Amino acid sequence: MSKTRSSGTIREALDAGCRDFGENYVQEALPKVAALSGSGATWHFIGPLQGNKAKDVAQAFDWCHSIDRLKIAEALSRHRPPGMAPLEACIQVNISREATKSGVEAAEALPLAAAVARLPGLRLRGLMGIATPDVGPERQRKEFALLRGLLEDLRAEGHEVDTLSMGMTQDLEAAIAEGATMVRIGTAIFGERERKHPA
Ligand SMILES: *Cc1c(COP(=O)(O)O)cnc(C)c1O
Repeated sequence: MSKTRSSGTIREALDAGCRDFGENYVQEALPKVAALSGSGATWHFIGPLQGNKAKDVAQAFDWCHSIDRLKIAEALSRHRPPGMAPLEACIQVNISREATKSGVEAAEALPLAAAVARLPGLRLRGLMGIATPDVGPERQRKEFALLRGLLEDLRAEGHEVDTLSMGMTQDLEAAIAEGATMVRIGTAIFGERERKHPA
């Protein structure tokens, strides 16, 4: 997760072999994506997504992990340039319940995923979740296990999904123990973030 990091810092990570970078503010990300074009970086959008930013995400990113409404998914699909491969898409599921409001409820994840799978500009890859912070690995593993169960349900319905985007610096071990295929690490790679990005 390279949010708040400069393109110079990201370039260092690229030189060290890191290929995938996650951003969660479109405005902050676009200049970095432009500065590093041709570098071989794969860009993941993982943040709150407003309808008026869908076009930018569809044009600049390779992945979007934070799809939680059909309207947004449709806008991403509509704006995906025809010459590009479909945008790799994950549905964000609210596995922490009280801690955050982002993501769909578990019961809504499968119907939304089925609708996303039908959109031509997107390719459904799997699910993303953020565990409750600071509650210890046992509770976090339960939350991650919920996401894994949903991915298995999607497979049982015939979807060819392969991605469980879960785990960050604080809880990556619990996430990997529950089957994460993609962890989103910021602090443990780049160090503490200096400031919170303005909302
Ligand atoms: C910032 C962020 C991360 C990385 O957090 P760290 O604690 O720095 O590893 C992971 N996932 C999302 C959605 C983020 O916004």
